[in-house]
Amino acid sequence: MKKQKISPYLSVSDQITPTEISLLKAEGYKTIINNRPDGEEDGQPTSKDIQALAAEMGLDYVHLPVIPGKITSDAIQAFAKAMAEKQGPVLAYCRTGTRAITLWALSEAGHLSTEAIIQTASEANYDLSSLKDKLNSLSMHGQNQQPSQTQTQALDNDTNVPQLSSAPSHIYDVVIVGGGAGGLAAAASLHKRDKALDIAVIEPKEEHYYQPGWTLVGGGVFSRNQTKRSMASVMPSYVKWIKSAVAAFAPSDNKVITEGGEAVAYKALVVAPGLKLNWAAIDGLEETLGKNGVTSNYRFDLASYTWELVKGLKSGKALFTQPPMPIKCAGAPQKAMYLSCDEWFRKGRLDQIDVAFHNAGGVLFGVSDYVPALEKYIEKYNIDLHFNENLIAVDGDKKIATFALTDKDGNVTKEDRPFDMLHVCPPQCPLDFMKDSPITNEAGWVDVNNETLQHVKYGNIFGIGDGMSAPNAKTAAAVRKQAPVVAHNVLSLLKGYQSAAIYEGYGSCPLTVERGKIVLAEFGYGGALQPTFPPALVDGTKPTKLAWFLKEKLLPWMYFSLMLKGHEWLAAPQVLSHSPVLHEAQEACDFKDQ
Ligand code: FAD
Repeated sequence: MKKQKISPYLSVSDQITPTEISLLKAEGYKTIINNRPDGEEDGQPTSKDIQALAAEMGLDYVHLPVIPGKITSDAIQAFAKAMAEKQGPVLAYCRTGTRAITLWALSEAGHLSTEAIIQTASEANYDLSSLKDKLNSLSMHGQNQQPSQTQTQALDNDTNVPQLSSAPSHIYDVVIVGGGAGGLAAAASLHKRDKALDIAVIEPKEEHYYQPGWTLVGGGVFSRNQTKRSMASVMPSYVKWIKSAVAAFAPSDNKVITEGGEAVAYKALVVAPGLKLNWAAIDGLEETLGKNGVTSNYRFDLASYTWELVKGLKSGKALFTQPPMPIKCAGAPQKAMYLSCDEWFRKGRLDQIDVAFHNAGGVLFGVSDYVPALEKYIEKYNIDLHFNENLIAVDGDKKIATFALTDKDGNVTKEDRPFDMLHVCPPQCPLDFMKDSPITNEAGWVDVNNETLQHVKYGNIFGIGDGMSAPNAKTAAAVRKQAPVVAHNVLSLLKGYQSAAIYEGYGSCPLTVERGKIVLAEFGYGGALQPTFPPALVDGTKPTKLAWFLKEKLLPWMYFSLMLKGHEWLAAPQVLSHSPVLHEAQEACDFKDQ
């Protein structure tokens, strides 16, 4: 928690943890205001949990959730009311503290001068200068006056998001939303082609994760820290890093709006925010994750708990689940299972452990060429396969998992299954801020052309990574091939040409069937096999040691030192046509890396 004192009566902070509540109590705080909706990000403590702990400590608690970028007059009034009625000192928090301090600022307009509000916020390291006009206009209505209906409407623009900022003074050549695998790979490939490009990356987090490594953390091969870097260390020096979260898109104005209300203008936009792990969709899961034998390799902080459980389990029932598609790295639920079984097999314990795989889908793996190799391991580990069974609830204390079973006629029944260890792959969906945006399709994914990755309606917008609509396997391996395509096509657009680079749907899933061997699935749209290596070297349909070497030793290096640096080794896009200008840019990029 990074607390900033705004007045003797109010401090604001980023997300607090349950353990910090006793500290707040010791420091004399009397009330906590939570300005976050539940379920914004993985690992976020729920309002219910914070409220219960606050009550235990004798602190008052107010849940006043505000969606980033959507600060309504009701929320401002509710904040002012809480501040007036609750006993202080008060701690107001959200993800970064920006929403909390913005609510304070807007509720104080008319009480304090605009300059004093902005200065106070600035001393607390929050830049509210973009609120100047709004604060001035609110304060014109005098002390103690609430914002009028007209003013409230002024908070909304055509996409129903706030126009809190004044007109942007700068237009970037390219703005990238998200500094994960896709965003940073796109930045690197763009810079490689044109060093003069003025690029901004909007990314709120201080950490960057190598998520493919989490399977190996859960299998006891990697330490957790091998998969984490500071965002500052991977963010390239040639981009402007805007440390904020995007709240909304205004594609007709070529702007994105950050959660602090800043409008960031672009000529071209690359959207790469990833997806949402929807833990809350399974009843009781969030409360028990990380204890009672319930784990998931889909979270940095839990992958090492998987390994702890595997080492500790001597007998009993181990369940592994897979939700409905789409999910990122569709093989990851099975990978966790095979590596666990391998450890139990090696330790001579597998006979005492009943292992079951509950898959909401109807097949072991979506591309049939890889299934025979996987089935051999199902047999070796004596795994009980259950298809069309979807995990819907977990009772951690009783160690019961409830599944919805769909039969061949579509009838659904529920069944409880006891467990000693439960590895959950959560359901996955588009991020909340994407769902209702003008740039997404009905399902909430950035609506792009499958080949060019260019938006189907707004030609200067491109999608990359897990958050877009193309039906490829959502993997970092896919991003490696998408980044050069997006970079090429963005550059074409900026130079006045049509998109000509083509993505053929490549994705890869290294299925860790045992420690030391991998079935390396590599395929494109429609399940067409797209092996990187000749079968004599690596036959992807069979378990090989070389593929394991690739996963353990080579791929992390390829990710950080090649993909995030714009070295497009084995990733040159197919280009349908050339323009003279593009040809130059093409020459400048690293196709010679191959
Ligand atoms: P991410 O890398 O998740 O990055 C998204 C970024 O956007 C984040 O930094 C986030 O903070 C940021 N963001 C979110 N919201 C906002 C906002 N509002 N404004 C600005 N920024 C925002 N892939 C493989 O290739 N091989 C594997 O073996 C493999 N195994 C995996 C195993 C597991 C357990 C998991 C979880 C994933 C695995 N993957 C694997 C998948 C791979 O990690 C993802 O496909 C890849 O990271 C997707 O990149 P992305 O940029 O779309 O999303």
